[in-house]
Amino acid sequence: MSVRAAVMPGPGMPLEIREFPDPTPEEGEVILDTLASEVCGTDVHLWHGRLDGVPYPIIPGHVSVGRIRELRGVEADVLGRPLAPGDPVTFLDVHGTCHRCFHCQVASQPNRCPSRRVYGITFPLDDGLLGGWSQAIRLLAGVQILKLPESVPADRLIGGGCGLFTGFAAVERSDLRMGATVLVQGTGPVGLSAVAFARLRGAGQILAIGDPDARLALARRFGADVTLSLAATTREERRERILALTDGRGVDVAIEAAGQPSAVEEGLALLRDGGSYVVAGHYTDTGSATLNPHTLLNRKHVALRGQWGTDLRHLVGALRMLERHGDALPFEEVIGGRYGLDRVQEALEDVEALRVTKAVVVPEDG
Ligand SMILES: [Zn+2]
Ligand SMILES: [Zn+2]
Repeated sequence: MSVRAAVMPGPGMPLEIREFPDPTPEEGEVILDTLASEVCGTDVHLWHGRLDGVPYPIIPGHVSVGRIRELRGVEADVLGRPLAPGDPVTFLDVHGTCHRCFHCQVASQPNRCPSRRVYGITFPLDDGLLGGWSQAIRLLAGVQILKLPESVPADRLIGGGCGLFTGFAAVERSDLRMGATVLVQGTGPVGLSAVAFARLRGAGQILAIGDPDARLALARRFGADVTLSLAATTREERRERILALTDGRGVDVAIEAAGQPSAVEEGLALLRDGGSYVVAGHYTDTGSATLNPHTLLNRKHVALRGQWGTDLRHLVGALRMLERHGDALPFEEVIGGRYGLDRVQEALEDVEALRVTKAVVVPEDG
């Protein structure tokens, strides 16, 4: 028996399908049969070599859902729920935070731990099946596993992918108050998630800026009251519209999920005095923005925060919300294409061209 996986040999090089020996778990490990793994903007950036320190060749695929094939010395998930072969699970893609360093122990921000490794991004191929674009995934000892509740279909989780957790984290970090007006810039998976969680957190009005039309329709489906097309409006028109919707004051909270430097300046300018702004969409370096610190930060009395990656608590929280409020989080509708391993190249190209909002790799399909 062998396992097929998609390998990204290096930046710009075509993906390859390779065969690997069937994995067997070491003590403390779990082997998953992959049900689905996401393709997100990060994978496109990986393919173009835009992330630092990636040890190509790699097996991409950071957020994944699988069924337990075999476990050794692992009896429960992180919430203490018993695990058995056949159970559908997901896991925190971040592994190996050290619990000893300054960031882990003093600053309480393990997302900045230098020992941190990420499935599908920072594990070299020689380390094994540590990415989701593979028929099987090896969960190393200590990987934080979460069993999917029966009421949460795999598609609902993977249709959001990492954006589901990032949007959750961004809304949490914004300190959004009930009844507040929120602007979400960007209508990809992170933006859609931010819209949905802003609604569940009790936003009074949700505005979203993005493109293309299909994504704006999804934003409305997820709870946006007003959507504005980036391409069909000028910046001045967007400003007039948003000021009109906020009694001339601007929004209470803005969440950047666009990944465009210019969005930061525009978003800050659309914030009311004393509002809060979260930058969540810049996972890669897309360049600089210029802004006037006097008018946009100091005089405005703005709370400006960044959100880097996600922690286990964001997964636990988001999964609980999917369980309790699944109808308000229909991420399965975001899936625009399912791709067998043979078509991962096409999946990357479709995501890059915005032909699909969320592409999903289903390794059993090819
Ligand atoms: Zn650490
Ligand atoms: Zn992702």
